[in-house]
Amino acid sequence: MRSDILKDGLLEKLALASGVSGDEQEIREILYQAVKPHAEEITFDGLGSFIARKGTRGPKVALIAHMDEVGFIVKHINAEGFIYFDTVGSWWNQSMLNQRVEIKTASGEKIPGIIGSVSPHALTEEDKCHPVKIEKMFIDIGAASAEQVRERGVAVGDFICPEPFFSTFGDDGIMAKALDNRAGCAVVAEIFRQCQNPDIQLYAVATVQEEVGLRGAQTSAEAVKPDIAIVIDTLVAGDTPGLCPVAFPLKLGAGPAISLFDKRYIAHRKLTQLVKNTAAEMGIDLQFCTLKTGATDGGRYNVMGGGRPVIALCLPTRYLHANASVICAADYNMLIRLVVSLVNHYGQDVHQQVTQFIG
Ligand code: ZN
Repeated sequence: MRSDILKDGLLEKLALASGVSGDEQEIREILYQAVKPHAEEITFDGLGSFIARKGTRGPKVALIAHMDEVGFIVKHINAEGFIYFDTVGSWWNQSMLNQRVEIKTASGEKIPGIIGSVSPHALTEEDKCHPVKIEKMFIDIGAASAEQVRERGVAVGDFICPEPFFSTFGDDGIMAKALDNRAGCAVVAEIFRQCQNPDIQLYAVATVQEEVGLRGAQTSAEAVKPDIAIVIDTLVAGDTPGLCPVAFPLKLGAGPAISLFDKRYIAHRKLTQLVKNTAAEMGIDLQFCTLKTGATDGGRYNVMGGGRPVIALCLPTRYLHANASVICAADYNMLIRLVVSLVNHYGQDVHQQVTQFIG
């Protein structure tokens, strides 16, 4: 139920925090506090990915979600006090103009600003047909000069995050900043908390820098060396106008999804079957999709250190990589129930069946 998610408060806290790729400290600290009471050990890889473990024997099962979100970085401050920026992660320029943002300074202060737009009064009909190039966009923080921008603590290289917010949406939805992938982080933390299985070593991993090339997946895969990996992420829901339902078949509220194939990964066949069987036993509806235009952390976990079975389980999400996105609480809760059951029934025997190639 959505009320459980709201009562718990973890997803809200995670979505409101800022954590653009390379600047995940706030997320790391929230997860540390949330997971610590349930972990036997918490460590970090060299890039800062969060790694919690419980259990000391049996196959190593890793649950993985990325901590970072798409955002921007200060590139240049002009003489008039306007701030030019680079995108961090992928953005569509039409989702950006006139959006409110926060610039995080070296001291951690958050300076409110807005991505400036030209009012329609000043545009020709022809101008209105063309999206503005990202290089032409600027952030206005109400400073009158470069000097004033610097006085407020803003410097080249500071990270910029969409203005945080979190709210309910419709009957069972949640609308917020950065649900990609704070929803995954909260799901992983909850699964880790609920799982009780002495026959496995369970890891909750929250990776850094996924949105800029699955970097924390690579470093954490080397650090953890799990025997199987379950990646939890968000994936495009295609149930709004303008999206082709063949290319983007996922629907909000129709259950968690298995990403079967993407740019960097193919779901492990036997692990996929195990997830399907578990879902069928529990009466949980699953959705499926193949997508050649994106990837998850699964695209590193599958190939690092000799490789291992990997599956990516995703929450259908509307309006990814923009200031506000939407998920459905029923999908979220079903995903937790599904993975808790799968992991609680995992052990050496099941692992043997999953990983055996001959016989
Ligand atoms: Zn993601």
